[in-house]
Amino acid sequence: MPDMTPARTFDALIIGAGFSGLYQLLCLRDRLGLNVQVLEAGDGVGGTWYWNRYPGARCDSESHSYNYTFSKELFEEWEWSERYPEQPEILRYLNHVADRFDLRRSIRFGTRVAGARHDEATNSWSVTTEDGETLTAQFLITAVGCLSTANVPAFPGLSDFQGRWYHTGQWPHDGVDFEGKRVGLVGTGSTGIQATPVIAAAAAHLTVFQRTANYSVPAHNAPLTPEFKHWVRSNHAELRRIMQSTPNGHPFVIEDRSVWDVTADQRQAIYEAAWAKGGLQFRAAFRDLLIDKEANDTAAEFLKGKIREIVEDPATAELLADIDHPYAAKRPPIDSDYFATFNRPNVTLVDVRNAPIERITPSGIRTAKAEYPLDIIVFATGFDAMTGPLLKMHIEGRVGLTLAKAWEAGPRNCLGLQVAGFPNLFTITGPGSPSVLCNMPVAIEQHVEWITACIARLRADGLASIEPTEAAMDDWVMQVNEAARSTLLPQARHSWYLGANVPGKPRVFMPYAGGMARYRSICDEVAAKGYPGFMRCT
Ligand code: NAP
Repeated sequence: MPDMTPARTFDALIIGAGFSGLYQLLCLRDRLGLNVQVLEAGDGVGGTWYWNRYPGARCDSESHSYNYTFSKELFEEWEWSERYPEQPEILRYLNHVADRFDLRRSIRFGTRVAGARHDEATNSWSVTTEDGETLTAQFLITAVGCLSTANVPAFPGLSDFQGRWYHTGQWPHDGVDFEGKRVGLVGTGSTGIQATPVIAAAAAHLTVFQRTANYSVPAHNAPLTPEFKHWVRSNHAELRRIMQSTPNGHPFVIEDRSVWDVTADQRQAIYEAAWAKGGLQFRAAFRDLLIDKEANDTAAEFLKGKIREIVEDPATAELLADIDHPYAAKRPPIDSDYFATFNRPNVTLVDVRNAPIERITPSGIRTAKAEYPLDIIVFATGFDAMTGPLLKMHIEGRVGLTLAKAWEAGPRNCLGLQVAGFPNLFTITGPGSPSVLCNMPVAIEQHVEWITACIARLRADGLASIEPTEAAMDDWVMQVNEAARSTLLPQARHSWYLGANVPGKPRVFMPYAGGMARYRSICDEVAAKGYPGFMRCT
């Protein structure tokens, strides 16, 4: 009788079947011919887009740039319907990719990884699932996403709440019925800003609890015209070239002009045009918005002026425009009628900066000033970003060193890809890489291709393992810090880029802010020179 026991030993294990895990699987299995298994906690592919099904969930990258570019055929055959892809459409795209490349047969769904341990004697990783099974592999690649560990603040009383509560990143698959309900939404980051107008349109009343006011630029979402779709299909190579050469991996070029090259009137006209165009491109109006605080102030004032123009009630407008950080120093949201939603009679804005949420009561939310009766609470309170998904798993490297210990003062690694003491562990879009500061598929393709080439080279050279030296890690951490310091990004002290949204998390600027194009050339140079700073062993 044939042995029906599932295989437990592989060349490579990949954790996660989102954008990064799918492409990593394809590269290692079909290009290098390795025996690969993907372990995925969800019951389907999609990662972020499998879990984030909240109302209004849509990507802020423009659809023609929010896809893989490694395959011209795949790029040309897929057609997006709107300027920004909605969550269900992105999920359809990733399912299409999984089917087109026959990826599902190498993915085990409903399998959450509990921990991973490196065994020096066998040079292999033992990965344990929450079901208690153990699988082993020479290479371990985390494709767990940067924003996948939900942050639900530890408000006292939550367990006594008599209504229903949800975190946007763990949204029920069959949706939530808001009709006739009093809804409270906590959080005004990109997620809260997307969800607010949609929930307001469905609920009896929406109360938005704002701790930090935020900028937002209109998305101007719309169906794509046949002409635009044709243009995209005909320009695969050019779009790929632009996305790979810009600092943020988006399909537009940052204007090569300073805020100070133009008169105040010209600047106003430029900002008006950028506002009319909408989207993340607003940042590209001038080259110095993220490095010169006074330059940034001009954009900030323009955007605050727009809030005051749109929002009718002056007190609400002031609260929304009372923004404490430079424009785009936090991830800049884009929206569909966010500010105008506060003109609806069924929407209230509550300031929880000056009167914080004290507790959740059985019937609602109590702040230092008042109590708000609610039927549903939506937490759009973000994620334990970047390090959270990695540290949630118990990863143990050489001589019992855990990743939690190695990173107790903040993440340390080389190129955002590898950690000393953890041989053959690769972290796709890990801290210390451009990741969240970049259009994610561009960052993901670059990491996956670098890892694939690194493993191919290792095998071609007859070597068994690779890991960075401590000195190379120190050097990279310094470069990550320097890159951040040369921008205004660390000036947003409450940002999740710094881990400031999670109590007790070390405050370290996590992503690499030197730009995707520069980062790519650094990685390419390391590979071309034979991996200096890395120990490659037999
Ligand atoms: P976020 O940016 O971290 O925002 C969380 C919000 O919750 C903030 O307003 C935060 O206030 C608030 N909050 C957290 N704890 C709180 C507390 N104890 N009391 C009151 N308010 C609290 O999270 P997010 O909006 O989910 O976005 C995370 C990232 O996901 C984005 O920056 C983006 O990179 C990505 N994203 C992308 C898209 C897209 O492409 N369309 C959409 C959504 C999200 P403070 O600011 O004061 O901490």
